[in-house]
Amino acid sequence: MPEGPEIRRAAHELGRALVGRVAGRVEFLVPRLAAHGARLSGQRIVAVTPRAKAMLIRFSGGQTVYSHNQLYGRWQVTRAGREPATARALRLTIANERHVARLYSATDIEVLDEQGLAAHPYLARLGVDLLDPLTTVHAVRAAAEDARFRRRSLAGLLLDQGFYAGLGNYLRSEILYVTGLRHEERLGSLTSADRQRLADTALALTRQAYRTRGVTNDLERAAGLKARGVPFTAYRHRVFARDGEPCWTCGDTVLRTDVAGRGIYYCPTCQPGTGTATAKRARATRRREY
Ligand SMILES: [Zn+2]
Repeated sequence: MPEGPEIRRAAHELGRALVGRVAGRVEFLVPRLAAHGARLSGQRIVAVTPRAKAMLIRFSGGQTVYSHNQLYGRWQVTRAGREPATARALRLTIANERHVARLYSATDIEVLDEQGLAAHPYLARLGVDLLDPLTTVHAVRAAAEDARFRRRSLAGLLLDQGFYAGLGNYLRSEILYVTGLRHEERLGSLTSADRQRLADTALALTRQAYRTRGVTNDLERAAGLKARGVPFTAYRHRVFARDGEPCWTCGDTVLRTDVAGRGIYYCPTCQPGTGTATAKRARATRRREY
């Protein structure tokens, strides 16, 4: 499933192909939206903006095409005249004289006016967008201190788009691993230093994933593994989807547990949890090291 970094990369590619140009042909393959195609065709596209996992395509007439890719949706941009070979169901085509952007498989597509955009339930409840270049460290840390979230477990919180917008399943496991925290801990039971570290790590790792096409591993380690011929899927993450494999740091076996049907991957040694005896020992060791 695409997460914030993947949606932002797709928005960048869509923007380069579409923004500033007249969309000669806009065609919805979803019957309830078909009539909008004729209205939007011939308008100029003024902006393509990612909002967490949603994409907003703004037309010069003031309307915005909202799409959320859910699990299977996918944007693809080709040069005009080329037809991609795919078995996916086409939902929307936006074509100008140079490029064609196609949205496949997505089921969550809407055409919104100003009012509809302002009142949209998904957009209205988004929290701090970690990939918005204007988002500050201060705002990200402030969210981690917000009393509304104190009773929540980290497992649920890190997928809640009302907390940090743009996070998804692979980022959740990777952020928890880097901070040494366990998914079942509650935000309010962490020390203030741990909450700050959680905030800083979420911001840094999400932005790294955007820059590196989804690499959340330590970049030096990833480069070394790549140089030795290790494939992308094997060096990409620290723990995500690596259950049964040795932890890169300590050699212990990476484990998987499921919370509400979604896998969380962790190292029992590097992430002992703050309340346990092992955690206290690990903390004491860390204190000695510094
Ligand atoms: Zn480990």
